[in-house]
Amino acid sequence: MSHHEKAHAMRALEEEIIALNITPELAEQANRLVIGDGNLNADIVFIGEAPGKKEDERGIPFVGAAGKFLNVMLEAAGMVRSDVYITNIVKYRPPNNRDPKASEKEAFWPYLLKQLEIIQPKVVITLGRHSMGYFLTKAVIGEVHGQPHKVTFGNQTLTVIPLYHPAAALYNGSLRQTLIDDFLVVPKLIQN
Ligand code: URA
Repeated sequence: MSHHEKAHAMRALEEEIIALNITPELAEQANRLVIGDGNLNADIVFIGEAPGKKEDERGIPFVGAAGKFLNVMLEAAGMVRSDVYITNIVKYRPPNNRDPKASEKEAFWPYLLKQLEIIQPKVVITLGRHSMGYFLTKAVIGEVHGQPHKVTFGNQTLTVIPLYHPAAALYNGSLRQTLIDDFLVVPKLIQN
């Protein structure tokens, strides 16, 4: 698909999610759907949990405190946000930032896979347990963080790298370096 076709397909997907009202309780309370942001031709797609307050206000994922640290991770690897695509498993802000429910994650999961089909990245980076749990069903983050896993869904085979959630690093200083170190292997992975 050309970039233009990808942009069109992503807009159509967004309109479909809104029209089908797949999570009515979330949609009612959120300001907007936050479909994702960045480069539709990216080799790397980041998948977080759900929009927070700032994301819900601006319609862009990872623009609050966790997003600032994500920018630091990108910079450490010589990248900027426009080199990657960033989204969340759940695309409406849960009320008071509560954890997304299993039913909400399930409702959005097929659309996340469609986004990946459109973008065709080389690597998917899950941020935190909510998005990791769908790609690597039995994984424990403390054991597998930073390790590439080959995963097949339908006709897509993806390399999935689970990372800690950048928000966790805000409360735990030693995790900051772990996250940066885990992410630093990614540019090498996509070169070959
Ligand atoms: N945390 C997330 O998981 N996603 C965002 O978009 C922002 C913070």
